[in-house]
Amino acid sequence: MKIATLNRGKETKYLNQYPLIDEEDIYQHDHLKEGDLVKIVTDQQQYIATGYVGRQHKGLGWVLSYDENEDINTQFFVKLFESALEEREYYFNIDGTNAFRLFNAEGDGVGGLTIDNYDSHLLIQWYSKGIYKFRYLIIEAIKTVFGYTSLYEKMRFKDTTYTGGFVDGEAPEFPITIEENFTFYNVDLEDGLMTGIFLDQKEVRKKLRDQFSEDRDVLNLFSYTGAFSVIAAQNARSTTSVDLANRSRGLTEENFGLNGIDPKSQYIYVMDTFDYYNYAARHGLQYETVVIDPPSFARNKKKTFSVQKDYGSLVKGALSVLAPEGSLLLCTNSSAFSLKAFKNVIKKTLDEEGVEFEIREVMGLPKDFKTHPHYKPSKYLKAVFIDIKH
Ligand code: SAH
Repeated sequence: MKIATLNRGKETKYLNQYPLIDEEDIYQHDHLKEGDLVKIVTDQQQYIATGYVGRQHKGLGWVLSYDENEDINTQFFVKLFESALEEREYYFNIDGTNAFRLFNAEGDGVGGLTIDNYDSHLLIQWYSKGIYKFRYLIIEAIKTVFGYTSLYEKMRFKDTTYTGGFVDGEAPEFPITIEENFTFYNVDLEDGLMTGIFLDQKEVRKKLRDQFSEDRDVLNLFSYTGAFSVIAAQNARSTTSVDLANRSRGLTEENFGLNGIDPKSQYIYVMDTFDYYNYAARHGLQYETVVIDPPSFARNKKKTFSVQKDYGSLVKGALSVLAPEGSLLLCTNSSAFSLKAFKNVIKKTLDEEGVEFEIREVMGLPKDFKTHPHYKPSKYLKAVFIDIKH
């Protein structure tokens, strides 16, 4: 096994079980190749942990074990998968939900690897070339621990032309329909990087339906396949979905259809969010709830969008279409945008606009997206419900 020697004075954080191997903490790392197992040692050559090399924007690799004698083999992954499975028992036993995360990267013990369950069709996501080198062992372990109908994979790292596909089992015809909180959504595991639904938002969607939709006109911006609209529509007076991508319309209509809602009874616009603000203002449209769940970064013909730079203007725009008494649901999945910074932007904007507001709920990841206690960025999701009078 190769040796990764820490720069002097860097051991405390790793002794405290920080899981990410920070490139800057390692003395000379040119000899470390993707997929290498490494012993992380102090400058005095004292063993701290075993890790693997898998470069993600976040670092050089991830810690796997604190036991010098532990082999990283199929059995190693079997043990981790078994305990992850045990911790998901709740989701296997509840009614109305059959899609959730089975294994959440560093939260469950292997940074760079996630496994999702879509009604017994499993999706592995590989986040680096390094973790992909363990593919054989990991798939063996998956076969041992998880029952499934089919197994798919997606590569979330760049340097490859193969972006994923079928691995094992009985291939279904896509889209398949999954259920979450008694709501149905289409999912396609073979279509680009996204699957049709973001499983990390399940509790936020439920809260939107149960507490912020009844008898309201709900506007859902950056709506993608309309997941928030479809669940809100169960209680709302109307829903309006806005997304720049052409394909969002058909996918959203299908999701309404799956839930017995006539898509023609709802509004869907293929439009830039900021253009929609202008359109809605011109037509005097108002909403009692506005949902904003944007990508962290996007580029279109006219401009680039980044959450940290643009959230303030998103909120201002939302106020221009919000009824005198209404609610905002503001989300971001950017790990670089801390909850504190996010709340500061929200408060600053609302103060500047002189509105009366009350933060009703601050939500994060659900239990199946298990996070690592010593690695803050793993809690990337922030969703804030705010009541507003203006
Ligand atoms: N809120 C969604 C997920 C958003 S994914 C959900 O709950 O499932 C990001 C979406 O933002 C993509 O569908 C993309 O087409 C859309 N998008 C990116 N830039 C946009 C813009 N300027 N205006 C409207 N939609 C945009």
